[in-house]
Amino acid sequence: MKIAVDLHIHSALSPCADNDMTPNNIVNMAVLKGLDAIAVTDHNSCSNVEAVMKVAGDRILVLPGMEVQSREDVHLLCYFSSLEALFKFDSYIRKHMNGMQNISEIFGNQYIMDEFDRITGERKDMLLSSINLSVERIVQLTYDIGGVVVPAHVDRPSYSIISQLGFIPPDLNIRVLEFSHKNESIVSEMQEYQHIISSDAHSLGEILERIMFLEVKDLSTTAIIQWLGCPCVI
Ligand SMILES: [Zn+2]
Ligand SMILES: [Zn+2]
Repeated sequence: MKIAVDLHIHSALSPCADNDMTPNNIVNMAVLKGLDAIAVTDHNSCSNVEAVMKVAGDRILVLPGMEVQSREDVHLLCYFSSLEALFKFDSYIRKHMNGMQNISEIFGNQYIMDEFDRITGERKDMLLSSINLSVERIVQLTYDIGGVVVPAHVDRPSYSIISQLGFIPPDLNIRVLEFSHKNESIVSEMQEYQHIISSDAHSLGEILERIMFLEVKDLSTTAIIQWLGCPCVI
């Protein structure tokens, strides 16, 4: 079956995202746009994913995920088939944060919310910063927990694996690259990879329409993980 997806959306937990990127607003907008599956991928954190999943119910599939910023300033989208696996990954990421504190007046709020969009907490450490783990280590850790890694916005001039490393190390077993826009010339340069387009939405209106489709066997997190991942590691 073909499903319409947007697998890179930030909630109000990311300091750079709008405060109205609440669980209910994200899900309602994604449903309104006709999407079948979404992922909320906050910077180095995932504390709003459970609330988004609760809000979504069976209206839309939510793939558990996180956008991690490596020591080399590379943004990697790490996806998992279950919330438990994502939380396990999160506990490891928390141990490797660099200790910087957020200044919310300058960088923005980092709100944790429940399924009723109530603010239940706020992360005090700066989430939008590099952690003390290499690209290689983050990829290995994700695979070890049964997840999959998609390098984010590889067509952008900053925070992408291409801009930071200059190439994609072949031993990472990456199968899919994320692009911000459909750009035939870049896509044709990287024909050995599948590509996916996501919004990287920081505001509600940026969430994708039905423009990116995956061919999967069913509408499940496992099927999406299999589409995104190298078969050798699944
Ligand atoms: Zn990014
Ligand atoms: Zn992002």
